[in-house]
Amino acid sequence: MNYHRYNSKLKNEKKLKSHIGSLKKIQIIYNKLHRAYGNQNWWPSETTYEMMIGAILTQNTSWTNVEKAISNFQGDLSPERILNIENENLSAIIRPSGFHNQKAQKLKNLTNWYKKYNFNIKDAQNKDGELLRSELLDIKGIGKETADCILTYALEKPYFVVDTYTRRLFTRIGIEVPKDYDRFRLLIEDWIEKDLYLYNEYHALIVEHGKRHCKKKAVCEGCPLIKLCEFGKLKEVSH
Ligand code: SF4
Repeated sequence: MNYHRYNSKLKNEKKLKSHIGSLKKIQIIYNKLHRAYGNQNWWPSETTYEMMIGAILTQNTSWTNVEKAISNFQGDLSPERILNIENENLSAIIRPSGFHNQKAQKLKNLTNWYKKYNFNIKDAQNKDGELLRSELLDIKGIGKETADCILTYALEKPYFVVDTYTRRLFTRIGIEVPKDYDRFRLLIEDWIEKDLYLYNEYHALIVEHGKRHCKKKAVCEGCPLIKLCEFGKLKEVSH
């Protein structure tokens, strides 16, 4: 074998090893988080429509603020109401979620899209996932993370949601994470079988873990992933 072929074989083997290592870690992370926090049964909402509304309201804010905004609807949160209410009034209702003027318009945009399915979630769920994703991404104010949340938690299409918690956790664990949203998502989807329940639970567990331990400033003490985590191990050594 010549030098170049030998070198590229070595490189491929290294890549394969790192790929297998990451794959194993991804499976272990899920098992450990599930053991630590149990079933999450997301998304926390009364109806599927409320779930979609929540996915927009939660942009750049905490879930507590979303709950405040949703409770301001006083149990009357329907697509018909959102389309008929003046922007100004809608904006006042959702004020606790922040960026309320933009979000009011986004809620209207999303609801207008939903209208084409007669506000019937089953009609939307019957469509192909890629078609729905491209329709959602065409809506002004809906980015990839929000679209994938709606796809997974409302439209029952398994798309792995990549958020700040996911990126932070996997990077700290020591997995090479692509910067590009879809490249990262596709990588994970390549590693984990496309299963709606699994994607639903995995993302919810990552969020739970991000709130309890893997915060901006990591709380590594008592973390169920510490034995697996490069950042956590380094922290342990330095103490
Ligand atoms: S050990 Fe620390 S950095 Fe690693 S996952 Fe746990 S909290 Fe995050």
